[in-house]
Amino acid sequence: MSETFTAWGGEAAKNAVAVPLETLDFSRLTTPALPYGDGRSYGDSCLLSGGAMIDGRHRNRILAFDGETGLLTAEAGIRLSDIIAFAAPLGWFPAVLPGTRFVTLGGAIANDIHGKNHHRRGSFGCHVERLVLERSDRGRLVCSPRGNADLFAATISGFGLTGVIREATIRLMRVPSTQIREVTTRFDRLEDYFELAAETDKRHEYAVAWIDSLATGKSFGRGHLIAGDHEKSGERAGSARPALATVPLTPPVSPLIGPGLKAFNELYYRKARPGTSERTVPFDGFFFPLDRIGRWNRLYGPRGLCQHQCVLPEEAGADGVRALLDAARTYKQGSFLTVLKRFGALASPGLTSFPRPGYTLTLDFPHRGEKTLKLLAELDRITIEAGGAINPYKHARAAPQTFAMSFPRWRELEAFRDPALLSNFWRRTVVMALAEDPAMVSKAKKYNSSQNPAFTLKADATLVNSEIPAL
Ligand SMILES: Cc1cc2nc3c(=O)[nH]c(=O)nc-3n(C[C@H](O)[C@H](O)[C@H](O)COP(=O)(O)OP(=O)(O)OC[C@H]3O[C@@H](n4cnc5c(N)ncnc54)[C@H](O)[C@@H]3O)c2cc1C
Repeated sequence: MSETFTAWGGEAAKNAVAVPLETLDFSRLTTPALPYGDGRSYGDSCLLSGGAMIDGRHRNRILAFDGETGLLTAEAGIRLSDIIAFAAPLGWFPAVLPGTRFVTLGGAIANDIHGKNHHRRGSFGCHVERLVLERSDRGRLVCSPRGNADLFAATISGFGLTGVIREATIRLMRVPSTQIREVTTRFDRLEDYFELAAETDKRHEYAVAWIDSLATGKSFGRGHLIAGDHEKSGERAGSARPALATVPLTPPVSPLIGPGLKAFNELYYRKARPGTSERTVPFDGFFFPLDRIGRWNRLYGPRGLCQHQCVLPEEAGADGVRALLDAARTYKQGSFLTVLKRFGALASPGLTSFPRPGYTLTLDFPHRGEKTLKLLAELDRITIEAGGAINPYKHARAAPQTFAMSFPRWRELEAFRDPALLSNFWRRTVVMALAEDPAMVSKAKKYNSSQNPAFTLKADATLVNSEIPAL
């Protein structure tokens, strides 16, 4: 079956075939495969060119819910929006939400996503109790911190490579209302953010900052620190409002570059009053403002959108963020949406989870060819030199070394990889790294052949540099 599978940055899986999860039979696959959620990852971690994309979007039923404990079991293709719609009227809410509601449960676990309350609740994986995983070599396995614990940890942040998550049980959090009391503090300089951030985290469930990345001089790094808490009483509505409009097509040139962007930032900055202001907002406006415009990623133009997200250790945060913003300016590429957040100390349960204590900065650029690629490489260099890490599901360009330095335990994940599964991202990073490390190649070959003889040839082929299929 032929279908287009895309990532949110605009890239598509080339020559991929669709395999509906309903009909998945690993023994009949003739190519490597990859589970697909809803393609809300920006980079190539959700794509496999020349392979089989396992599409589980129709497997989206809620299987069980305990109204006393908040434990919810659902098929992995369910979107977070459907979980909210079901649970919010009952007084429960996902403990971790990303910036879009169109993320599936399987995708949220596989990337161990984070939200605006990382400082209080950690990452999504902190709230996963159990999952059912299907592997080509071991069949269906129930994984939890108590059984198959290693595989459980590898699957949370396993980038879809450890098996297909069929269903999962997560622990929701009790909330008095879905409405959010939003507290916005306008700050005039980057330094002010760093003075406010830790204290704001102590007082509020949610906190995130928008930065005007184009402001210069004394206003460098100015922005809004937006905190929030569930209202103590009020609506428990669980349905998000429909999009206000949808971008119908991709413009030949992105409108998000040039003087228009500076003017937009200026207006947006002034939209918040000086000092602090408060208001009550519906949950979708607070968590998912971008969802109000359908297919907004098209505005980034025909070459798509490159997002760069990194996390820097707390002590390197202020200088590091300054250096990253400076680099974007030096390369004359304004980031349309720049978001800064402080991660807390709660450890993620995943083997290769992105969140760790410190500051995380996210920058969005229209892809403008070589100059954007050079900028991304420079942002990677600053991140690694500061002792930080890049976010692999936001990034489709990072060099193998950058990934390896960001995730020192990547070899352990490779050992847990289902030999039938692969992604463009894994080819680009780990397969490339292994190809340069003969000792690891023979170890990986042994692992692959002992696990699934049917896949020996194909899995081995991907380990040979010259045979890596063109992406
Ligand atoms: C507007 C916007 C805002 C965002 N904000 C945030 C944010 O605040 N925080 C954050 O962390 N992320 C954020 N993201 C990124 C997004 O949350 C993640 O990329 C998420 O994992 C995407 O989920 P998906 O269901 O679309 O899965 P996909 O993007 O399709 O896949 C993601 C990964 O999950 C794997 N996978 C999917 N289903 C399964 C399954 N059943 N079994 C095993 N593996 C599976 C895939 O192989 C892939 O590796 C944002 C994205 C957008 C577009």
